[in-house]
Parts: sequence; structure tokens; C-alpha cells
Amino acid sequence: PGFLDSILNFFDELGAGLVAPELLSEVKGYAPEKEKEIARLYTAYQRELVKRGLYDSGTLRHGLIEALSSKKWELPPSLKRFESIRLIDIYQFTPYRFELFKNLAIRMKVTIVLPTPDNRQRAFGFIVSNISKFEALGEQAGQLEIKFSQAGGGGLLALKERIFDLSPPDKESDKAEGLPVKILSCHSRYREMEEVGASIIEMVKQGGRRWSDFAVVFRDIKPYGAIVDDVFNRYSIPFYFKRGLSLGQNPLIRSALSLFGAINAGYGRDEIARIAGSSYFGRFADIDIDDAQTLYIEAGIIDGEPSVWRRKLKKTIAGRKGASRDKANRIANLTQELLDRLNRLKRQNRPPQFLDHLTRLFTWLKLSPESQYSGPKSDIIRFRDNNAYMQLIDTVSQARQAVEMMKMGSSPLGFEVIRDMLTGQINDRTTPEPGAADLNRVQALNIHDVIGLNFNHLFICGLNEGEFPLRAQARSILTEEERTAFNKAHIEAWPAADPEARKGRRVFDRSSDKWQEESLLFFQAIKAAGDTVHFTYSLQELDGTPIMRSLFIDDVLDVLAPGASTQERENVILHTGHLAIAKEAFLLPDPEEQKAKLLRDLFRGSASEQSLEERIGQIARGAPGWKRFTTLLSLAATERQRDDYFIEPDPEKKKKLANIYNASLTSQKEKINSLLVGKRKGRYSPTALESFGQCPFRYFAGKTLGLEAVEEPELEMDARGAGTLNHAVLEIFYKKMIKQKRLPLTGCDDEKNILRDTALKEFEKFRRKGLLGDMAIWEAQEEKTLSALIRWHDAEVEDQRKNGFIPVGVEVVFDFKSFDKNSDLDPYLISMPGGGGRHLTGRVDRIDIRADGNMLRVVDYKSGSNAAKYKKMVARDNLGRVSFQPGVYMLLARDWVMSKKMMDNVDSMRGGYRLIHLDEAVKAYVMTDGGKEKEIDDGSYLGAGNGAEQTPETFEGQVGSAIEKIESGQFYVSPVNCDYCDFPGLCRYIATAKQSAQTD
Ligand code: SF4
Repeated sequence: PGFLDSILNFFDELGAGLVAPELLSEVKGYAPEKEKEIARLYTAYQRELVKRGLYDSGTLRHGLIEALSSKKWELPPSLKRFESIRLIDIYQFTPYRFELFKNLAIRMKVTIVLPTPDNRQRAFGFIVSNISKFEALGEQAGQLEIKFSQAGGGGLLALKERIFDLSPPDKESDKAEGLPVKILSCHSRYREMEEVGASIIEMVKQGGRRWSDFAVVFRDIKPYGAIVDDVFNRYSIPFYFKRGLSLGQNPLIRSALSLFGAINAGYGRDEIARIAGSSYFGRFADIDIDDAQTLYIEAGIIDGEPSVWRRKLKKTIAGRKGASRDKANRIANLTQELLDRLNRLKRQNRPPQFLDHLTRLFTWLKLSPESQYSGPKSDIIRFRDNNAYMQLIDTVSQARQAVEMMKMGSSPLGFEVIRDMLTGQINDRTTPEPGAADLNRVQALNIHDVIGLNFNHLFICGLNEGEFPLRAQARSILTEEERTAFNKAHIEAWPAADPEARKGRRVFDRSSDKWQEESLLFFQAIKAAGDTVHFTYSLQELDGTPIMRSLFIDDVLDVLAPGASTQERENVILHTGHLAIAKEAFLLPDPEEQKAKLLRDLFRGSASEQSLEERIGQIARGAPGWKRFTTLLSLAATERQRDDYFIEPDPEKKKKLANIYNASLTSQKEKINSLLVGKRKGRYSPTALESFGQCPFRYFAGKTLGLEAVEEPELEMDARGAGTLNHAVLEIFYKKMIKQKRLPLTGCDDEKNILRDTALKEFEKFRRKGLLGDMAIWEAQEEKTLSALIRWHDAEVEDQRKNGFIPVGVEVVFDFKSFDKNSDLDPYLISMPGGGGRHLTGRVDRIDIRADGNMLRVVDYKSGSNAAKYKKMVARDNLGRVSFQPGVYMLLARDWVMSKKMMDNVDSMRGGYRLIHLDEAVKAYVMTDGGKEKEIDDGSYLGAGNGAEQTPETFEGQVGSAIEKIESGQFYVSPVNCDYCDFPGLCRYIATAKQSAQTD
């Protein structure tokens, strides 16, 4: 494989080298093992050309040079008209070109204009070695003159002067800063062209530039041609390809050639689906390509002969019913016929039959240039496709004539050879430019075409490894050494008398020449740029195969960031987004892109509500339901903002995402202050603080908005009711005990009777108020409640005996009289970190003292039995953060016992919970010090007492900072624990969290 191409390429090089067959036989010793064979082939090839009356380019060149070398030849009138010939930026002189201009220069003035070489070997080595061919002519050079041009100035001068400089200036002397040069790294070739198109549009929009100021150039235009065509049409950028777009890249032709692709891929599922989905084949217009693909996948088809497809499709269809079966049958029948026809085409190994089958297949497929496309520039696209269609028919009919003429009808060339010949013919053609008369267009050029021209704004694209610099053809008949040896042997065998012209007759370039030629090309392309230049490359092919960037990018970076570190150099490159629609909507030039972005934003919420409304408004403003739609849109935007807040795990970022919809009411600080500090006089109860500590939003809903859960009527007394009843009984019981000075408890029957009587009286009170629920149920519960109270009493007796704490106050209220007339004492005053004071109120269930050790204990009754939960509440780490009650109550009780002169001084305190349903004293009391005397809080942590130091770490300091947060409106939905909260329906935190977990 590849031999034919290689040998023809080699003959072409020999032709350009003016090596005639008879001379080739004389060139010896360059490749002993193959040179005879090569010479024989070359002679046979030339003989065949003569026999058929044909010429190849080598023969023609040879003839021309022979004619020019003749002394009798005179300048024709067409040349005589001119004073001189100027060759601008032509720098490669093969022996043919060399002889051509050498001979012309004998008769007229020939000036070769080239860039002035300097010490940049990579850029100018190629010029120097080519020019030396003429310099060696000496006297024989006739009227030949070599002139050197200077690179144009402008903002790009530094780039033009420094590219390929082997000793670039160091960082300090950097003049490259601010060069109008950009390097774009793009995800794929498609994205690369989208970025180029978008940049051109942006620059034109900025004003002062015409489309014709721009050129987009490629070293290899093939991989980009169809993409430029598609993207620039979508973006409505007027453009044209200097050499036309290769016919093979036209979408209609690509569809036509996809038939060969399907055969080549062994009837692969994707390839067959591509044919069935092409809008150029009317045969499949009635089937839905998604249905077809689903059917193929369901049938488990990857590829396979038509018989395999038949069997698998049949089996799958048998499992379907009704309309779905009919639809599948239609798809299967069409697919099967397509496969059978492709298979028949594949079996044709003679040209006439191949062409007949192919034509019949096109007819059956209803190949037509009238695609369904109706987007922008559809008229241009229709023109383009019609032309391509005509050219396809023309190519096939020309192939048929050629076959007839050359009498190839019976040659069994084989399917692949005929196919390659036909596709070769197609690829050699180009499609014309519609509207070519319009000169104000962006030019898409091959890099060779830009040399000698000038564009204000140049995009040098496809700077990918292997493409530019173009990778040297590996498949050559001769090795590098053999080519060098050939040059030498050829000169020795060359009969010409003038040794001066020998240099110019070097047939083959060295590989280093090729490398230098590529560098010079790059330099020349940069030279064509006037004001700005963009260098672009892709990271992968459309199928995902990775591509490396060109080494030229590094050469440009050497100029842009001399002496920079690897990272600094990388930072110079603009890494463009994965998708065009990642940009702001107003930057998207294609209406289809804008729609895609709109859809994406609608469901992603990445755009602001206002811009979304504006953008949808452009399509649908005033349509029925528009008003309701905008309301929904605004609600959706709100919900998205809330979701973004909930989903964010980083607390710092979360704070930034907080807004009024997730209860950041910082903007309403004044209103909140007037309510809390004005109306409520800056009084805070520990339950309120605790609610804030558990979840700021819970506090906001309950304490600020004053919302309460809706009470559902229940047959049984609920937990809250039972707790109130127990509280009432215990309060009255201890009040009696304190009043009658019967403490500490002894456990005697008398005490138990008092407790029982107290309980029965309270039950009756509750019954009368209707708080006991259904009486039939209560009767069953009453005895249980009484025996629980008796067990409670037993545990109390045990605790007082062991710990020595005696109740001295029950249900002690701390508040201003103006707010609670039952108040025993004013609230506790704390100083705020920012100045001023706030008041801590409270209703303490019970205050105990142990007079012997000046110890104080505050007790809060709890009906629950979850000791672990309450242990957490009294842990030092949670006090002042999520738990406030024990701390605040200790501060209040301390003031109270001293105001009542029960204790002179309080040395230490403990506070916590009495779980009234736990029967063992040691478990029933959950206290701040864990119940261990040694660790009893001495007040320094609480920040209590005269002159006690208060820092942000003390309890008082923490209370102050919680109050500050409340008063500044930070009511975020950020729960520590949602247990027992009444507001899940309002905050919707739970629903969101579940949903995001499912999405993840
Ligand atoms: S349910 Fe949870 S998140 Fe919602 S307000 Fe209550 S505690 Fe806060």
C-alpha cells in the first residue's frame, strides 16, 4: 500500500529536477539495491506516456527548459511588453525553476525579492541555500538580480524581528509586552473555528474594520474546510476560500461518500444510521432516525453482514406489538434494502458495473441537493449543494467515458481501487464561491496563498503537531542518505559544461531543508499580518483523539514571554471554553447557539432572572400566557438560587450565596432592630437563643415572624401536653415541700400522698380545661402517670441524699414586670461586643442549692428520655453555640439566690436537665459538669460575677455574638438538627437536600 503514490511522487520530483530517463540510468551508486529497478520503472513509465501521447508535468517542464536553452529562442511578445520580472517571496528553486529564471535572465531583467536574512538560521537557512544557487552563477547570471525587502513595521514588528531568534532577549529587556498577539487553545477543531469566527465578529463590532481586513490561514486546509464553511455560515460571516472548498468536503458529497464508509466499516450501526439520518437522502424522509437508532441498539447490532442485521432485526420486531411493530417493520425493511444494495455494490470489481450500481443506489436513495435546512444563509447553502450535486453527476459520467475510452470495461480492478479512483476524482474538484463578486469578505487561505499579501488581522490556525510544520512524508522510495547520495551522483553524471549551474541542479532537498522551509513559511505568514495576529490550535480531533500543539506555538511564546517559567508561558495562552455556549448570551453570534444557551440557562439557572426574561421576551413577549410564564420564571429563578445555596458544601461560599430567599435579611437590619431591640426591649430567652443556635431560620420563623405549628386535634394527650401536666404537678409539689420546710425529701409515705393528691388535683384542672384529650383513653393513662410520678419521687429522694442539693425555688421567672407580672427578678444584663446591653430572660423550672459548699444547681425538667441528646446539650463545646439554656439559667439563678440572701457568694454552679421519666437518679440528672464535683464550673467560663473577664470564648461573649447575628438579620437556613422543628414546609430545606442527593 502506498507504493503507487510514492513512485508517482518520486517521478514528479525527478521531473521538477529535470532528470530525464536516459540520465537516470547514468546516475549510479546512490541506492545499489534498487536503483536499477527504479531506472527501469522510470523508463517504462516515460515510454508508456509517449505511447499514449500523454505528457506529465516532468515531460512538459523538460521540454520547456530545452526550448529556452536553445540559442535561437527569443522572448515572445507577451513577455517583451514587460521591462522585468519580479519574483516576490518565491524562495524554493527546484532545478526546473532555477533553469527557467536563469534562461529568462539571459534575455530580460529578473529580480528575486526576498526577506532580508539575518542570523535566524531556522527562518532564513532555506532562503540562503536556495539563493546560493544563483549566486554561484557569477558572470552567467545575466540580468538576474537579488533584492532583499524589509519586514513591515507596525505593532507586530517585535514578533517579526524575534521569531526563531536563537538568543532571545532576557526578561528585563522585554519589549514584547502588549504585542497585539493572541494564542488560543481550543478543545477541538470545531471549537477552534467557532472561537475564530466569534473573535472576528467581536473585532468587526468594535468598529473601524471590514470583513476583508481578516484572513484565516491554514497550512493544511483539508481538516478545516468543511468546518469553516459550516461555522462561518452559521455565524453569518461573509467569507470565501481562495482555492474553493474541496468538493469532497461538501456535506452532500460527504453523505454520498458515506456509502463507502459504511461498506468499509463492515456495515457498522453508526455508519448505517448516518445514511438513514442524512437529510440528503429522501428515501428515509418518513422514518425517525431516533426510532431507527433505538431499534438497532435494541437489536444489539454493532456491525455485521446483511444476514446478521436481518436476523437480529427480525427477532427484535417479533417482540413488539401494534403501532410500534409497524414502525419497526418499516425501518427494518428500508434498512435491509439499503444493506442489500450496499452489498451488491461491494461485489462490483469492474468499473462499468461499479458505476451503474452506484448510480442506481443514488437514485434509490433519492439523493437530492434540496435538504430541509432553512436556517441562515439557506439560499447560499442550496446553491452550494446544487453545484456539488451537478459535479458529482459530472464526475461519475466522466469516469464512465474515461472507462470506455481506455477500454477498461473488462479490467477486474476491484472495488477498493475503483472506489479510490472515484473519490480521488471528487477530491480534486472544488466547489465555487457563491457571490464571489462581493469583495468585503473574510478570506480563508492556504498558507502559501497568504505570502506576499497583507491583512490587517490574521488568524494562523491549525497549529497542531504534524500539520504545521508539516510532518515530512515518511513514505519515500529513497532514504535520506540515498537522496543525498543521489544529488552527488546526479551532478557527476550530469553532462553540462557549466559548473556554475551545478548547485542549481540539486534534485532533492534535505530533510533539514524541509524543516527550514516550514519555518520560513510560518515567518512569511506572520509577515503578512498588519495590526493583529491570532495563533490557534486544537487539543483533539472531532472523534476525541488527542492532538499536540505545534512547536511554533513555543517559538511564539519565546517572543511573548522571554525568560518566563513554564507556568508563566502557559498563562499567556487563552484557554477557550469547552462549549461555545459557555459564553455570555450576547457574545453568541449564531441564533441557534443562543437558543441552545437559553435552554441550558433555563434548566441550569446560571443566568440571572432578568437576562433570561429579556432573552425569552425576544422570542415570545406578548404570547398567550406570557405574564404567567414570567411569574413562573421568576419563581424558578428564586428556587434555583435557593438550591445553589443548599447544595454548596463550603460554608464560606455558602455565605456568599445567601440571599433574601434563604433568609439572609441583612438588608432589613433596621426593621429587625426596631422589632427586637425597640419593641421587645432587647430581651432574649434561652429557648429563643437555642432555637437560633439550632437553626437561624427556625428562630426567624418562630420568634421573629411569630409563627406556630397548626395544632392537629388528637385523641390522646400529646407529648407537649403531658410535659405541661408533669411540670405543673412537680412545681406545686415542691412549692408545698419548700413552704412546709420538708426538704430534703425522706421518701416517707406522707410525701408520696402529697404528691398523689397534688397530681389528682392538677389532673382535674386539666380535665376541666379539656387538656386531657379523650377521657376514655386518659383513664387508662392516669394510673400510669401516677406510678411514674411515684418513681420520680424515689429518684429525687436518692439524689438529695447523695448529692445534697435541695430545691429552693421553682418556676422562677426573670423578666421586667412590664412584660411578665409574675416575674421574681429582672432579667440578666449582658454587655454587647459592639456596646450597649441586652437582657436575658427566663423561667427556671427549679433552683437547688447545696448550702455547705456554696454550690448552685439549676434544673430544667424534660419529658424525653434521650440522655445522649441532653448530654450533648450540656457539653462545653455546644454551650453558647447550639445550647443556651443551662448557661443562661445559671446566670439568672446566681443573681436570684444572692438577692434572696440564700448564699453570700456562689463559688460554683452546675446546670442541666432532669429527665423525669428516668428512674435512676444518677442517670436522670444530666449536668454541665457531668455531675462530678471537681469539675463544677467556677463561673469563669460563664463570664459571670463582678469584674469577670469576658472574651469571645466565654459563654457571655458567645451569647453576645449570637444576638449580634440575630439583630443583623442572618437567618440562614442552616440547621444543626431539624428534630422537632415546626417549619420544614416553610424552609423546604429537607426537600431540597433529598432532591440534590438524588440528582447527585
Ligand atoms: S426544618 Fe430544619 S432547616 Fe428548616 S427551619 Fe426547621 S430546623 Fe431549620
